[in-house]
Amino acid sequence: MQRAVTILTISQIRSMKIIDGKKIAAQIRVEIAREAADLVRLGITPGIAVILVGDNPASVSYVTAKERACSETGIRSFMSRMPVETTQDELINEIKRLNADDSVHGILVQLPLPKHIDESAIIRAIAPEKDVDGFHPINLGKLLLGEDDGFTSCTPAGIMELLVRSGVDTSGKHAVVLGRSNIVGKPVANLLLQKKDGANATVTICHTGTPDATHFTRQADILIVAAGRPNTVTADMIKPGAVVIDVGVNRVPDTSKKSGFRLVGDVDFDAIAPIASFVTPVPGGVGPMTITMLLANTIKAARRCAT
Ligand code: NAP
Repeated sequence: MQRAVTILTISQIRSMKIIDGKKIAAQIRVEIAREAADLVRLGITPGIAVILVGDNPASVSYVTAKERACSETGIRSFMSRMPVETTQDELINEIKRLNADDSVHGILVQLPLPKHIDESAIIRAIAPEKDVDGFHPINLGKLLLGEDDGFTSCTPAGIMELLVRSGVDTSGKHAVVLGRSNIVGKPVANLLLQKKDGANATVTICHTGTPDATHFTRQADILIVAAGRPNTVTADMIKPGAVVIDVGVNRVPDTSKKSGFRLVGDVDFDAIAPIASFVTPVPGGVGPMTITMLLANTIKAARRCAT
């Protein structure tokens, strides 16, 4: 039997390699909206409280995006806007109030906080069962232990979803994570090494104390880059066929833009895309997944009330 030959255009071949975070996030949000509607039918409207202290423009825009995403998926959001001079005790009292409110299933305190407030004390004040950001030590501990009843922090959870939904097999592969922050590098490395479907990788973590990170990145079947600097990973640092997940979000000056800047990741995207088997763009890769996983965690928290 003669086989039909499909001739792909260069742009099609190129687009096959891009992990489209926007598209995957949109699919997950449809699933979340369905789950939210199911919960409403059971008399539970999933609800998240978002606390914003001060008026940092980036934080305001993140919070606005979170509110919009909630309303689009049928999740109720409760906004607490507090002035920049709010004391740590006042903020903790607000968290205590929300911890005790049964209509609030998730609590998120937008970071960073003003310098006079200890972020770690604030994270610890949130009830672990409402910590939908997954930053509480209890939830980080559950992640480390591979226990599924906690909350996984949103960016690492989003990265794992991107891999699974793109059909990337991580089992037995060498995953290299560049960056060891508590919100991205450490949790994603620990998720990748769990003895579970969608994980089971051999994991190496690199950081600024690694004398020759290229020695490790060139061995990576899967490279997760969360360094926070443009061009941290260049084409000579990756193995042909590697899967490259670029977590970085950096502003670089661009006079052609009205804003005067554009967003880039931590990898040299144009040089890496022809070599990698998959790569995430910035924007439109990991970013859209982060808020989506926050919504997913809120549904998980609300679902507990139904059981
Ligand atoms: P971070 O707290 O600044 O941590 C950066 C990590 O990268 C540190 O562990 C640092 O090592 C390491 N590092 C920096 N330069 C390196 C280099 N040249 N080689 C090896 N390691 C290097 O940053 P983060 O919070 O993890 O965020 C990382 C990036 O992801 C940022 O651009 C951030 O904006 C972005 N981000 C995006 C999302 C999203 O939703 N898309 C969410 C969170 C973060 P040391 O520990 O030795 O200093």
